[in-house]
Amino acid sequence: MNRPIARRDFISGVAVGVAASGLYLPAWAAEAPDYPPLKTGLRGQYPGSFETAHMARDGSFGGAVPADDSGEHYDLVIVGGGISGLSAAHFYRQALGDDRKILILDNHDDFGGHAKRNEFHYGGRTILAYGGTMSIESPFPYSFTSKKLLADLGVDLASYERFETKAYAGLGNATFFDRQHFLNDKLVTGTGKKPWPQFFAEAPLSPAVRADLTRLHTQVKDHLPGLDPEAKAAALKAMSYQDYLLKHAGMLPECLPFFTGQGYRNNKRVDTLPAWEAALSKRAPGFAGMTLPGQIHAEAQHFHWPDGNASVARLLVSALVPGVFPGKLDQESVVLAPANYAALDNAKNAVRIRLSSMVIRAEHLGPVTRSTEKAARVVYVKDGQRVAVTAANVILACFNNIIPFIVPSLPQAQKAALLYPSKVPMQYTNVLLRDWKAWAKLGIKAIHAPNGYHTTTALDTPMAIGGYRSAQTPDEPVVLHMVRNPNSPGSPRKEQNRIGRADMLATDYTTIEREIRSQLQRMLGSAGFEAARDIAGITVNRWPHGYSYTYDTLGDPDVPDEQRPHILGRQSFGRMAIANADASASAFTNTAIDMGERAVQECLISRGLI
Ligand SMILES: Cc1cc2nc3c(=O)[nH]c(=O)nc-3n(C[C@H](O)[C@H](O)[C@H](O)COP(=O)(O)OP(=O)(O)OC[C@H]3O[C@@H](n4cnc5c(N)ncnc54)[C@H](O)[C@@H]3O)c2cc1C
Repeated sequence: MNRPIARRDFISGVAVGVAASGLYLPAWAAEAPDYPPLKTGLRGQYPGSFETAHMARDGSFGGAVPADDSGEHYDLVIVGGGISGLSAAHFYRQALGDDRKILILDNHDDFGGHAKRNEFHYGGRTILAYGGTMSIESPFPYSFTSKKLLADLGVDLASYERFETKAYAGLGNATFFDRQHFLNDKLVTGTGKKPWPQFFAEAPLSPAVRADLTRLHTQVKDHLPGLDPEAKAAALKAMSYQDYLLKHAGMLPECLPFFTGQGYRNNKRVDTLPAWEAALSKRAPGFAGMTLPGQIHAEAQHFHWPDGNASVARLLVSALVPGVFPGKLDQESVVLAPANYAALDNAKNAVRIRLSSMVIRAEHLGPVTRSTEKAARVVYVKDGQRVAVTAANVILACFNNIIPFIVPSLPQAQKAALLYPSKVPMQYTNVLLRDWKAWAKLGIKAIHAPNGYHTTTALDTPMAIGGYRSAQTPDEPVVLHMVRNPNSPGSPRKEQNRIGRADMLATDYTTIEREIRSQLQRMLGSAGFEAARDIAGITVNRWPHGYSYTYDTLGDPDVPDEQRPHILGRQSFGRMAIANADASASAFTNTAIDMGERAVQECLISRGLI
């Protein structure tokens, strides 16, 4: 039942939430009540953090950008304090020495970029969650560079299985069929476990749709007969999964709602996912019975911390900036160590991280030779003031889309290449529950809701690491991790991303909270869940500019790698080099690290240092 949400049920942001829900500030936060990971409500690219960038995009800063001259000069100024920017600082120091003066500027009130930590204090315990990038993993192996960096930070990738507990042993997955797209609201448990005929028999479907979905999931049939494996691959690359299902697998259009909300890699949907990628995905039905060209599978190792890859960012900061953390951290001590944000920007340190500082201009001060020291000027806006610093090198480790607007002197062709990608809008919502008895009662740990506001909802990974212990029994508080990818089915993928971004920016927190409460009530109400009673806190990590754009065989021209926009766009420009995962057209931590290292190399070359 969709119970109307009474106004009194709402948490509506930080103040009311903390007071009303049992969340409290830990004793150590008394002196730092604005500790960024503790903030609830709308986080990620939160209101107030990005508007200046949009003004730069809209041309509000014109030609010359007057600014207060701070008199500060650095060897290197890095724009963007995500994993790529922080890694660049690490590599620059490795190359030139720890005494090199580096300034890292980021527009958010916390460092890490997408690698963000959410922290709740409730019922006498600390409960952690990840606000963005979740784990070390990728469909291809890590480079030597990124593996070495992780090893230098004290991360032993092979040790991970020691830290994940078996708290959810025996729990499975469920699918929520909603009444707007199926016959009525119903949670069907046993997804992927129950025989498909039984699973679909329990689902609220018309007989024809039930029969068709059951057929697709059980049939061993080649839907592209008469083509050899290579020709099959070529055909699948040129059509969407939706076209494959409708035109080749003979599915009824009425079956599509079961597929529309399925998010495949990088938020491709049934209409934008190349059928080839569906065929390679273990999750997509319809390809049993088809012989395809062999593939080499070589995935990176996996490592997850309770706050996701925010731990990587915290490890980097602990190695770069003295005084932020109590001593040098390792893969375990990083988990609970509180950060002293006041120490991030300390004139006594060689590396300074300046937050809430949006860069609006990076420009050369004149012609540069290899020996020019004051080569570039960087202007940022902090607390409404424009401030200028100078640098020998600049690394732009920010979203590649913004670079043409903050470096207007770039060649036009390079600007066009940098503007080509369209980042994927994503929302990682963390909901603190007083307990997870409803989940245990249903025997589930994750729910897929093909057409839900959030398409995935899962109990957070159970862990015991570095003195931290997440919920191990159903009566303990737990974080639910919910994923939303707003888009607009029917449009090309980049356009869907753009529409999804606009949708996110236009949606206020109260609306999101209403959707969360309504969705959880509808999905879990039958097992005794009561949103008004059971939700203790909500942090919405909104990423309109989420995953880096990746190419696909439907939406992008098939050109040689060296002609790809990310390669053309990331060329160094005088003393400026370009990093960020965007520069690799790949949304992974390892490539963010690799791009940081590549940009450092280019800085060194620009000064004849290698
Ligand atoms: C929700 C989500 C989940 C993910 N999950 C994973 C995962 O599990 N594993 C994985 O490997 N990867 C994951 N990724 C990909 C992730 O983006 C990369 O792994 C990596 O963290 C990107 O780091 P980055 O430094 O390149 O970019 P970012 O993290 O985006 O950092 C760039 C920083 O620059 C700032 N900035 C931009 N413009 C300016 C400006 N003008 N002035 C100052 N600052 C500016 C940005 O606000 C940001 O803080 C995920 C991404 C998202 C969004």
